[in-house]
Amino acid sequence: MTLRAIALILGVSASVVTVTVGAQSSTLFTFHSNPWINLHFFVRVAARGVPVQADLSEQERAVWAAGVEFYKPYAARDLFDQELLDIKWALRGAEGKLSLEGVAIDSRLRATLERLMPIYQKHWWPAHDRANQAWIAAVKPLIERHGGALAAAVTAVYGAAWPSEPMPVDLSWVGGPSGAYSTGPPRHIIMPSSDASLRGNAALEILFHEASHHWGIVLVSGILEAGKQQAVTLPPQLWHSVLFYTAGELTTREFRAHGITDYVEYSTRANLYTPMCGAGCREKIIEHWTPRLDGKRSIDEALTALVGSFK
Ligand SMILES: [Zn+2]
Repeated sequence: MTLRAIALILGVSASVVTVTVGAQSSTLFTFHSNPWINLHFFVRVAARGVPVQADLSEQERAVWAAGVEFYKPYAARDLFDQELLDIKWALRGAEGKLSLEGVAIDSRLRATLERLMPIYQKHWWPAHDRANQAWIAAVKPLIERHGGALAAAVTAVYGAAWPSEPMPVDLSWVGGPSGAYSTGPPRHIIMPSSDASLRGNAALEILFHEASHHWGIVLVSGILEAGKQQAVTLPPQLWHSVLFYTAGELTTREFRAHGITDYVEYSTRANLYTPMCGAGCREKIIEHWTPRLDGKRSIDEALTALVGSFK
């Protein structure tokens, strides 16, 4: 196979969408389908014991099995572990490269990924890349239509501004144990393309949910502080529920303003509120946090009232 043919298979597929936020034209996200990132997460999943099927030759099977075995310690570790963050970021820099030469990761890990890549390319990557590209192609028009308004609404709630650099989003056939996740700084979003619940209109909400983690620390610190002052024990995921509600409600409002009236926010559809913050939690968030979405309360006022409802 020629180098050019390999390069075509590896594919450099960064995509950008430029929208208008306020009076300024801005690129909110860049989208990537990078085989090194995809392979890393795919082997990690296989090393956790999730069956991955393909018609491998005997030799391929032996190489693949050794790679999966090597990945077991990585699979057991948390994705927010510093080394795993560094690996992900380093592989991001290998987008479009044929080898991992010069990529700052452990040399045995590098050799393992390079050995596995031809097998991954042959048996899985074409389908994974297609799913990634389909996800990107489907979300682009949604961002063009709604991204500017949503970015303005979401950042206003957090009293923030969209970063001057676009947020990079890597599509991966499989993501973390709970799917999409966000790390940073530097901010980086992993979005699983195999998860059907994150497709369609929900893709837009989940992008803005993940982006909101950029500012979510104000919810963590604000809820912690209000909890101390009022001596209330709070569900640890209350801040995350507020973050879910904010992106979900603002996306629902944006769709409704454009005549899409049947959109149901992700966390309601996935029944996340009760496991995250208890029975009746969503109603409390609606009552006490919605005034913040409407610009009628400061973050502190809204969180103080919300925390008070858990007494
Ligand atoms: Zn989240």
